[in-house]
Amino acid sequence: MSSILPVIHQVPLPLDRLILRDPPSADAIEMDVLIVGAGPAGLACAIELARLVKRDQAAGGSLGELNIGVLEKAESLGEHSLSGAVVNPRAFRELFPDLQPSDFPFRQPVPDEAVYFLTERRAQRIPTPPTMHNRGFYTASLCEMVRWLGEQAEALGVNLFAGFPVDALLVEGQSVRGVRTTPSGLARDGTPGPNSTPPTDLTARVTVVAEGTRGTLGQAWREWQHVASPNPQLFALGVKELWEVKQPLGAVIHTLGWPLPADAFGGSFMYPLGPSQVALGLVVGLDYHDASLDVHELLQRMKLHPLFRRQLEGGQLIEWGAKTIPEGGYYALPVRRVGNGVLFVGDTVGFVDVPSLKGIHYAMQSGMYAARAAFAALKAGDPSAHGLASYDHMIEGSYIVDDMRRTRNMRLAFKDGLYVGGVKAGLMTVTGGRFPGGMIAMEDDARTGRTTGPSTPFTPDGRLTFGKLDAVFKSGNATRDTIPSHLLVGRDIHPEVADFYSHVCPAGVYERVGDELRVDPPNCVDCKATDVLGPRWTPREGGSGPKYRAM
Ligand SMILES: Cc1cc2nc3c(=O)[nH]c(=O)nc-3n(C[C@H](O)[C@H](O)[C@H](O)COP(=O)(O)OP(=O)(O)OC[C@H]3O[C@@H](n4cnc5c(N)ncnc54)[C@H](O)[C@@H]3O)c2cc1C
Ligand code: SF4
Repeated sequence: MSSILPVIHQVPLPLDRLILRDPPSADAIEMDVLIVGAGPAGLACAIELARLVKRDQAAGGSLGELNIGVLEKAESLGEHSLSGAVVNPRAFRELFPDLQPSDFPFRQPVPDEAVYFLTERRAQRIPTPPTMHNRGFYTASLCEMVRWLGEQAEALGVNLFAGFPVDALLVEGQSVRGVRTTPSGLARDGTPGPNSTPPTDLTARVTVVAEGTRGTLGQAWREWQHVASPNPQLFALGVKELWEVKQPLGAVIHTLGWPLPADAFGGSFMYPLGPSQVALGLVVGLDYHDASLDVHELLQRMKLHPLFRRQLEGGQLIEWGAKTIPEGGYYALPVRRVGNGVLFVGDTVGFVDVPSLKGIHYAMQSGMYAARAAFAALKAGDPSAHGLASYDHMIEGSYIVDDMRRTRNMRLAFKDGLYVGGVKAGLMTVTGGRFPGGMIAMEDDARTGRTTGPSTPFTPDGRLTFGKLDAVFKSGNATRDTIPSHLLVGRDIHPEVADFYSHVCPAGVYERVGDELRVDPPNCVDCKATDVLGPRWTPREGGSGPKYRAM
């Protein structure tokens, strides 16, 4: 047995590629507000802003028309969206006060709920912790919500540019001036091919970065502007499957315990999505200690447990996908979320409450606040950090920060393992987050050492359990085979690290062949797990990656 410290093998963030001081090209497209990412955060921002502008115009205001653009890397809206999801409808209600929950793109109300502690063969029902109550909420597919939000935005005149990944922020002095998109059609060695298209520059008075979990632009901007947070951001990887099933699932189910080792933080979910579908997944904190831990494989083993097997038996896997979740909570929030000409919203900031596994309504709410701040700044003619500062004030005074403060040390308590963490989390709930006093200090996931050792091989049956290549097929991934690699791999990756990467990546992108690391970039589903623990992820040509339909 030996040990791996992932950070040693990781290349630095390519800041000179992500923050560009080049002047925008002569044919740059001019917008007023640009939003990077068509997730719930970006689309809620676009909708709220378009409405504010219309209201201002109707009242004879001075702002006139605004050109609002949303850039999304997926070829079509929703194709890169993945969540659980149980949705707290609070932000939907605020954004669409004239609509009823039955008008929203939800699948069904939460019927009942149950939490189980699993051992390999048994499931012991335990009382639902107060942070995990979901009564009054709805189950939904994030892909469907995003497509619906996109329709609302388009109806308000927002320009949606799907298939346009943003490669870099264009800056001047200390201000963000706009963005540059990725080129497309390049040959594998990065040279222009016969059908290649150069990058496009877009300028804006305000850029809203809504790029989701482990955002590259957000990481780069914070490093460039030296914006710290009390603790580093932590991440979990969630691997999820959507199943067509024979009998409806009568409750929202969460589990703790098996198949996770006691020193890993995480759990599973199984949600009903109407009478004949269920979503299930396993979420594991990326600060686990065993180098051979493989979240995709653990999910496959988990489906063999009677609790899941009896629900899935006779059914069919429809879709598979994976994504990271920012888990650091309150103490991992950057001290500011605005800069000159730029605002950050949703998961890229880390607005996720881990004990309740909720981020969608926080993402939307932060998007609405950003819209209000951008509108006010443009009206005042001051899109500087000072002019946009009302966003940070709205966030600080909001239920987003209130909720996250209440659970501020809960995830952090689990660095001591499941049992100690469970006791501490109970005390934190009872004291409204006041126990244990100050902040529990954490380190980057990549700074947690991993112990290597033999792993137990798992053979999927192709019926209930699946290997990674079959899984990637079920993500709809149809990335061009000849695409240049978008993954920045460190040099001299030794065999044990190659094995570690092959376990971390749920999509089979990394493989140890002999003593070498083989990388298959087209398989990547943009989950960003190795960006946290190994090779860096960078944006690649539009339309690459998964094509989720109902994740
Ligand atoms: C397994 C799992 C289960 C979850 N369960 C729940 C749940 O039950 N309830 C809940 O409320 N929350 C849940 N969450 C969290 C929730 O999904 C997120 O908090 C929420 O989706 C964040 O919204 P967002 O708009 O900030 O980011 P996202 O939804 O990630 O959207 C970001 C968008 O930006 C695009 N993008 C990224 N980079 C670029 C770029 N460079 N250029 C252009 N576009 C780009 C992406 O393709 C994506 O469409 C879960 C998350 C996971 C992974
Ligand atoms: S290579 Fe892609 S799919 Fe694999 S872990 Fe990294 S981001 Fe996820």
